[in-house]
Amino acid sequence: MNSSTCKDSVELLLEYLDGELNTELKARLEQHLDGCSPCEDFLKSYQATPALCRKALAREMPREVAAKLTDFLRSEMAKAAK
Ligand SMILES: [Zn+2]
Repeated sequence: MNSSTCKDSVELLLEYLDGELNTELKARLEQHLDGCSPCEDFLKSYQATPALCRKALAREMPREVAAKLTDFLRSEMAKAAK
């Protein structure tokens, strides 16, 4: 059980959607979303969701999407930290 991993990725994604992610990471995330349909689908439904419902939707992010996003974001953050 590693629920904090999923939570981290969701919060990063929320920062991204709020425009709070740094430019480089944001560009990489967009690039990833472009080639990853589960993440792209999630993002589309998220963007179509009224703000009040968004946190709930994020909590219900499919496990597969959360895992892919987490992998992606972690590897990018590790690169950025070097
Ligand atoms: Zn993805």
